[in-house]
Parts: sequence; C-alpha cells; structure tokens
Amino acid sequence: MELGHFFYDLLVHNENFAGKSKDTDFSVYEDHQHPPITMLTCADSRIQGEILGMDLINKVFTVRNAGNQVARNKGSLAYALTALNTEIFFILGHTNCGAVNFAAGASLASVTKLDKHDETHSVEPATGVKKKNSGIQLASSKGESKIISMLRKSDFSAASREVQREMLPLTIPIERGIAKLVKIGDEKKELAYLSQTNVDYQVEKALEYYGDRVKEKKLAIVGGIYDFVGAYSNTKGRVVITNINGIYDKDKLQENARAFCEADAALDKSSESYKLCQKLIEEKVSRI
Ligand SMILES: [Zn+2]
Repeated sequence: MELGHFFYDLLVHNENFAGKSKDTDFSVYEDHQHPPITMLTCADSRIQGEILGMDLINKVFTVRNAGNQVARNKGSLAYALTALNTEIFFILGHTNCGAVNFAAGASLASVTKLDKHDETHSVEPATGVKKKNSGIQLASSKGESKIISMLRKSDFSAASREVQREMLPLTIPIERGIAKLVKIGDEKKELAYLSQTNVDYQVEKALEYYGDRVKEKKLAIVGGIYDFVGAYSNTKGRVVITNINGIYDKDKLQENARAFCEADAALDKSSESYKLCQKLIEEKVSRI
C-alpha cells in the first residue's frame, strides 16, 4: 500500500466516522469506559472486531498478541479483569494461526534434533533438555499426517530472537496437541485442533490467575476459535465456542451454554432469535 493511500484512507474514512458523532453519543464514554468483556485474541490481521457482529465500542477491552497468550500481557489483562471488573474474559484463537504453526514447527524441529542426538549418544544432550513428550515421537511414526510433515520441513530458525522468544512459550500447549493429530486425518481440522489446544491452555492459565473470580461468579472465562477455513463446519467465518471455564467436553459445554442463556432474564425465550440461538449452540458450541 502506498503511504499516500494510507493517509487518504485514514483521513477520509475517519472523518466519516467522526461525522457520525451527531448520531453517536460520545459523552457516554468520553470520561470512562465500562466494557463488560475483555477479549484476548491473536494479532493476526484477519481477526477484527467485525467478526463478532456487534458494535464493540465501550463493550470490549481488547488485548492482542501473536498466539493470544495470557502470560504476555498480564498487566493489561489484570487492569481489565480486576480494575474495570469485566465479567467475561473471552480468549479467541483462530484457524491457520502463524504463531501456532511456528510453535508446532519449533517443537518438531527440536525433537528431531534430539532424536538425531540420541542415535549417536546414549547420554542426554548437554543442554539437559529431556524428551518429555512421547506424543511427538508417535507423530513421527509411519502414517504421519501431512500437516506434521509440512510443519517439520519449515525453517523456523530464521526468525529473529525477539520473534522466537515470543512464540516459543506456545510450544508447551502445541506439544500436547501434536500427539493427537495422527488420529484426525483432516488437514484443516488438524491445524484448527492445534489452535484449539492453545486456547485450552490459555484458559487454563487464566484460571490459574483468575480462578477465584470464576468461583465467586464474578467472571466467566470463555475460549473460542475464529474459523475462516471451515474446519468446524462448512460455514466459513464462524466463531466457535470451545471452552467455558475450563470445561471442554462437548456435551457439557453445550449444556452450560444452554444454562447461561436460560438464566438470562433479558432474553425473550419465545422469540425466533432465541430458537435460532438454541439451534446454533448445537453447531457453534463445539470441538474438534
Ligand atoms: Zn494467530
């Protein structure tokens, strides 16, 4: 994009928004913000607020980093969750996440190196790093998924130290996920499964820090995946809920989602949109 074009878009389009101030009452939030939701999502450009289908101004306190990692922005999250007291913490990952793929490649590369080392030495490597995840060895056995083969060939060592430092914590959840890929046998689903495993891990971390607020019913932690490849269903662009407060059994998730809707007095239970919501729980509160 030419810089001139960027200036044009910024100046002209923002003016269109600013002009709306006749209709938009900025005075509601010019002194304070009152967001009910904190959203932690990936910095990926394909994720923008529009995917949630609602006006997010003054509703969503957004924190973003590569791979939607809780530990990377603890200060901003603590401010939103404990000073602004948002009631919902939504951790949103997505399909085809570059950070997740990076971590998967790095996990596989490191294990490959250890495997080679083990062939020639009977002692542990000098770094003291031990092979701790038998799942990755399983994934390297005969019948390896295409995605694993693809990730294994990627050269992730070319990334700068700063990039590596930010991505490598993701190898912890990703190593958990890799073991199961051979059983899935669908490339879209396999990559999405790794993103889903990362979200589960980030929900776990959030429960570590904010579990007390969840117990006191001051906070609900919701994990989800933005699926723009059609990994969860044939409808691309869906946001799928994959975890609620650490629950990741599909039936229990749906049961919880129904109970939350049922308990909300503001929802008109006889309306068509409520019936649609019930139907969508079947399809969009789901897991791979
Ligand atoms: Zn991403």
